[in-house]
Amino acid sequence: MSNANPQCLFCKILAGDIPADIVYESDSAIAFRDINPQAPTHVLIIPRKHIATINDIGVDDQELIGSLYSAAREIAATDGHADNGYRVVMNCNAAAGQTVFHIHLHLLGGRALDWPPG
Ligand code: AMP
Ligand code: ZN
Repeated sequence: MSNANPQCLFCKILAGDIPADIVYESDSAIAFRDINPQAPTHVLIIPRKHIATINDIGVDDQELIGSLYSAAREIAATDGHADNGYRVVMNCNAAAGQTVFHIHLHLLGGRALDWPPG
């Protein structure tokens, strides 16, 4: 799983070169609190494998992508949002606001979330 991109911020977090408030770790993924939280719970769930955008997800990555949602479910439950509700979203490329090009699920919870998003 070591296809780390030396320029990638999240690969650096995975390597331990940049600190993060890690809340979850598995064989395939880690999760940490967003540095600029948009809700009381704002956690980023990332695969250990470097994949730049949703467009780069391969047919062999389906189990890996599923594991990100399993992580989201566990973290949401741990933070107490399972019943009230929470949002899981992944941005793709500039128009959607993607700024870090290593795919990540945003897990947002702990407040009412508007729909549609801005
Ligand atoms: P996106 O705009 O979907 O690519 O999301 C990138 C997210 O990464 C933003 O919500 C940022 O606040 C967050 N972020 C950027 N740098 C860090 C960092 N060093 N630690 C934790 N979160 C970060
Ligand atoms: Zn990366």
